[in-house]
Amino acid sequence: MEEMSGAVEALLDQVGQETEPKALFGSSNLRGQVAIVTGGSSGIGRAIAMELGRCGADIAFCFLDSDSDARSDAQEVASRLRDLDVNVFVRSCDVRDSKEVNTFVDEAQKELGGVQILINNAGIGADAPVWKMEDDEWEVVVRTNLDGAFYFTRAVAPFMREQEHGKIVNITSVHGIRSEFGISNYAASKAGLIGLTRSTAVELGRRNINVNAVAPGYIRTTRLTDGVPPEILDRARERASLGRLGDPQDVAGVVLFLCSEPARHITGAVIPVDGGYLL
Ligand code: NDP
Repeated sequence: MEEMSGAVEALLDQVGQETEPKALFGSSNLRGQVAIVTGGSSGIGRAIAMELGRCGADIAFCFLDSDSDARSDAQEVASRLRDLDVNVFVRSCDVRDSKEVNTFVDEAQKELGGVQILINNAGIGADAPVWKMEDDEWEVVVRTNLDGAFYFTRAVAPFMREQEHGKIVNITSVHGIRSEFGISNYAASKAGLIGLTRSTAVELGRRNINVNAVAPGYIRTTRLTDGVPPEILDRARERASLGRLGDPQDVAGVVLFLCSEPARHITGAVIPVDGGYLL
């Protein structure tokens, strides 16, 4: 009996020696870390940049600069971030162009002093049934949503490996898991992004780099509310168990969690933020 209780005590001692993740509240302090957010000028990307900034991370974000509204959106986000007392690096950078991506990452690193977090968020759609889909509609979507994430991941991987620390979060979609009519390009790109997430999680894990994906359902951004017919939004609301669309902040909170210490043992996961749309 005495022998057994000695063995139990030895086991308990070992358990006590395991390092514990810090409490959620304390670990959301990202002060001293640098995060890149692609497509940070609007919608979900803006909410993510603001959430990480609120937790003290310095932010480098890019946008496409598709029109003057895009530029003023980006300037506004940059100024709101600076009000949070964090450093900001903002440039237009087309994620489809690997040279532009490498330059962006180089300059962001020099300006802000390293990169610990990468959020591959920039993404678009161009819907059409497959028999009517033009080459350029296929290419622009796959190159933005999938090639862009690959280029950014490849650009940050060497120094994340060297520093033996990094968090990468890819913004995929419920449509990478369950498709609908007219989105073969989008669905293929977002399913591909899930494959990229899992493969890079396998490759980078031994250097303490977590790679995860978040799969939003229908999220109330202007792209969605301006571009998607109301009957489709009603159907999406109906289909979600929670009976509502999501807000960009719903996605940003989960991204923050994945970048924080309590999520240190999660990698290669795809987390739906969809109000139960996929159930
Ligand atoms: P928005 O259209 O509001 O924002 C897209 C952002 O990406 C903008 O900053 C835009 O810049 C940027 N961007 C687009 N193309 C490029 C490019 N080639 N290079 C660099 N930046 C680019 O989109 P959302 O916030 O709605 O979506 C964000 C992500 O979330 C996307 O990946 C989307 O697929 C995903 N998602 C969205 C859902 C939703 O319901 N809203 C649901 C599921 C997933 P600019 O303004 O200059 O064009």
